[in-house]
Amino acid sequence: RQDRRDSRGEVNVQVLLRCRPFSDDEQRMNASSVISCNEQRREVTVTQNPINKQTDRVFTFDKVFGPKAQQRSIYDQAVAPIVEQVLDGFNCTVFAYGQTGTGKTYTMEGGMNSKSSELTAETGVIPRAVRQIFDTLEAQNADYSMKVTFLELYNEEVTDLLASEDVVRFAEERQKRPISLMEDGKGCVFVRGLEEVAVYSANEIYTLLEQGAAKRRTADTLLNKRSSRSHSVFSIMVYIKETTIGDEELIKCGKLCLVDLAGSENISRSGSRDGRAKEAGEINKSLLTLGRVINALVEHSPHVPYRDSKLTRILRDSLGGKTKTCIIATISPSAHCLEETLSTLDYAYRAK
Ligand code: ADP
Ligand code: MG
Repeated sequence: RQDRRDSRGEVNVQVLLRCRPFSDDEQRMNASSVISCNEQRREVTVTQNPINKQTDRVFTFDKVFGPKAQQRSIYDQAVAPIVEQVLDGFNCTVFAYGQTGTGKTYTMEGGMNSKSSELTAETGVIPRAVRQIFDTLEAQNADYSMKVTFLELYNEEVTDLLASEDVVRFAEERQKRPISLMEDGKGCVFVRGLEEVAVYSANEIYTLLEQGAAKRRTADTLLNKRSSRSHSVFSIMVYIKETTIGDEELIKCGKLCLVDLAGSENISRSGSRDGRAKEAGEINKSLLTLGRVINALVEHSPHVPYRDSKLTRILRDSLGGKTKTCIIATISPSAHCLEETLSTLDYAYRAK
């Protein structure tokens, strides 16, 4: 554990585990649970064989949230400290990682009934972070400005979720105005052609988020569950004027990236024989590279393979170095998901 602390003695990669409750359907079918969460001990126990306790597997994480955990408590314990860092001028990233249907989008965006303009029990990480950023800056009477971007990465191709083109035509549009990753002389990556929208209020961001999410949903129905195979990256850049010395203005900038990853089942299905094999391979690439990058960071390895996937290239300035990363791994309690749950736990555990 010691080796995960930087020179200030701080941990830079936090791995959290969240187990969702049974759905109504699962409850009706009397699904059996193979997961037990001990929040105090920060442990998750997986029962592989109910009649042989010796095959139980126990995983420890930085924090563990059981099925009853509220959106608010996850936010307050895991994300609020990261947002404070962003307002101090650091770049930080929060990931949701897990099998499709385990609550990544629920955790990041919130439940269906959550109206983002007012915080409810169902409100997820992204709208809460937006609220905290504005509330803090307003309370400090800060002189600030903000920009947001929202992109989707599917098959190692970037789609702008804030661009106004009709989603039905976006494939053609993309050929007309390709979005591509560019590198400046210092090795910094930026996404050329990506809309950066200046925002002045939390409500404005909520509107953009809803538009982006709607675009994802439309693409989903057109392209058969595309969202389970794509990553979405919502970024907020905050610029705070610190002091003015003579004509010199000192601006503190921080960036927060909030990432809803593709379903982790795409990794294990990479060998699929159907036409999606290539696609699975490409999704595989970003998810697997992310795992390797995080491992390399955690182990202070001299070589961090950022360049091996688009996701890690895009997030490069928000992963590693003086940044904070939080991975929220999501699992289902159900026996039906046992295999996927174990592979999520293994992936997340390796990131610690
Ligand atoms: P994913 O994005 O990982 O595919 P979703 O976030 O869409 O999964 O969640 C699948 C379903 O489970 C949704 O209907 C969601 O509202 C519900 N759900 C997920 N996590 C929770 C939770 N912690 N509490 C209540 N419902 C949840
Ligand atoms: Mg989702």
